[in-house]
Amino acid sequence: MEKILAASTLLLLLLISSRLPAQRNGDESRRAPDVIYYNAKVITVDDQFSYAQAVAIAADRFTSVGTNESVRRLAGPKTRQVDLRGMTVIPGLTDNHLHNAGGGHGVDLSRTRTIGEVLKAVGDRVQRAEPGEVVISNSDWHEAQLKEQRLPLRRDLDTVAPMTPVVIVRGGHEYILNSAALAKWNITTATAQPPGGRITRYPDGELSGELVDTARSLVTLPPEKPRTPEQQIQDQIAEYDKLHAVGLTAVRHPGDSIDSYRMRKEMERRGVLTMRVTQLLRLAGTSAAIEGTLKSSGLLPDDGDALLRLGGMKMIVDGGFEGGFMREPYEEPYGEGGRFRGLQTMAPERFNETVKLFNRLGWRVFTHAVGDAAIDEVLAGYEAANAEASIVGKRWGIEHAFIGRRDHLPRMKSLGLFLSLQDHLYLAGPSLVKYWGRQRAFLTTPVKLYLDAGLPVSGGTDSSVVPYSPLWVIYHFVTRDTISGGPMGTDQKISRNDALRMVTRNHWYLTFEEDTKGVIAPGRFADMVVLPEDIMTVPAKRIEQMRVMMTMVGGKVVYRDADFRKIATE
Ligand SMILES: [Zn+2]
Repeated sequence: MEKILAASTLLLLLLISSRLPAQRNGDESRRAPDVIYYNAKVITVDDQFSYAQAVAIAADRFTSVGTNESVRRLAGPKTRQVDLRGMTVIPGLTDNHLHNAGGGHGVDLSRTRTIGEVLKAVGDRVQRAEPGEVVISNSDWHEAQLKEQRLPLRRDLDTVAPMTPVVIVRGGHEYILNSAALAKWNITTATAQPPGGRITRYPDGELSGELVDTARSLVTLPPEKPRTPEQQIQDQIAEYDKLHAVGLTAVRHPGDSIDSYRMRKEMERRGVLTMRVTQLLRLAGTSAAIEGTLKSSGLLPDDGDALLRLGGMKMIVDGGFEGGFMREPYEEPYGEGGRFRGLQTMAPERFNETVKLFNRLGWRVFTHAVGDAAIDEVLAGYEAANAEASIVGKRWGIEHAFIGRRDHLPRMKSLGLFLSLQDHLYLAGPSLVKYWGRQRAFLTTPVKLYLDAGLPVSGGTDSSVVPYSPLWVIYHFVTRDTISGGPMGTDQKISRNDALRMVTRNHWYLTFEEDTKGVIAPGRFADMVVLPEDIMTVPAKRIEQMRVMMTMVGGKVVYRDADFRKIATE
């Protein structure tokens, strides 16, 4: 492996490789398997993309992968043998950018399909509101799921909430307020547009109630009912259980707090952390404040182990669907007569300064950049850091990278960047056409462009902004189909092999763990998923509808479908 490695990373690799069974003593490697799964179509996702029929597992590792005959021969008297009766086995599925599984304490809009249904859900909650209460919604929904393909705005909300303040939260960049809420926080047509944010208006000049990005800081949402540390752990366990049911064995949380990392460490200590977790830290404040926070936390880059690990620092330079920072203006009316190009949520000088700080401290950086101009900014910042001390080989990266341009590619390559890509278009396609026009929307996210350039890429969802399911990621990337707008930008379709790699083995390059995870091979961690059909050969639409039959993390079954036992036999 010829790569320039940071000293800390090299140490990490040594630690990992010292635990590989190839280097265990002879007694252990001759141990009979705990369990053998056979009569399967095992897609190993190794370098040759080879298939096998059976796998043997001892403790948390695969010990053998091969034909039914060759693997079953290893069985000892206590080995369980499970006949999968032709089902398909793939490596554990991963999500490179998952905030949470959605839900929450607000009004649930995730299943609404019309503006009328949104208003009904909000109106019902308003009827039950206590005097002085602010009604809010959960964030896990998008107007692309609505028949009208538009946001509910202030005047819509006023029809069901004339007196009660209502804040509709959508994704991570957007609030919509009714008139009572605008009045509560004293937001009027006289309120200045905050830098990095936007207070939008109806065509007649009145406020529409929409607050984008930093404009949201004009509003203070009512605090969630405080949860005890114990409740937080129980909620996290329940959330990971939901994610195991769609085949996820590993998630990367982009930009969580040090406290939540400590909570997950406590879960691991108790033996209740069933998900492999990579966590990026998001720290706010001046360079001095960030450095102080890190010092007092005692956390070092790559802190963690094979189950839970810090993966770097998260930064953000632009908005999302309605605020991605572009080289060219938005479509009208969003372009405001050719003036609006999106939002810069951080001044470039501040960004560059912080990136250099992280480089000096040995942290790798991943930056949220949606628009092409945002990617320009990130590359400039990384190049400035690289000029001080090389970042090549340290696997820094960009999150999302919706509007990648050809001129970005050589710069990304020479910095050795990794692209963390998601299936936003699947959900938001029709909205992106409205904001950015067909050409830019159809480019989102140009996975094929990046792959053809030889850039390393992995896949995920950005849940709860986009609903979580790694099978939907595969389905979208191989078809470019969307939930409500049909296929878009089909020239960016990729092969099923590439899509499966993106949500399995490629994930582990993000933390230099590609030698221990992501492939079904002897010595690797036994993370795998059982599917009822072969996703490499079924009609594509079946991938979207497919149920997961079983999920395993480190040799432990963490999810089993009710029908699994009807098919598999022991
Ligand atoms: Zn995100």
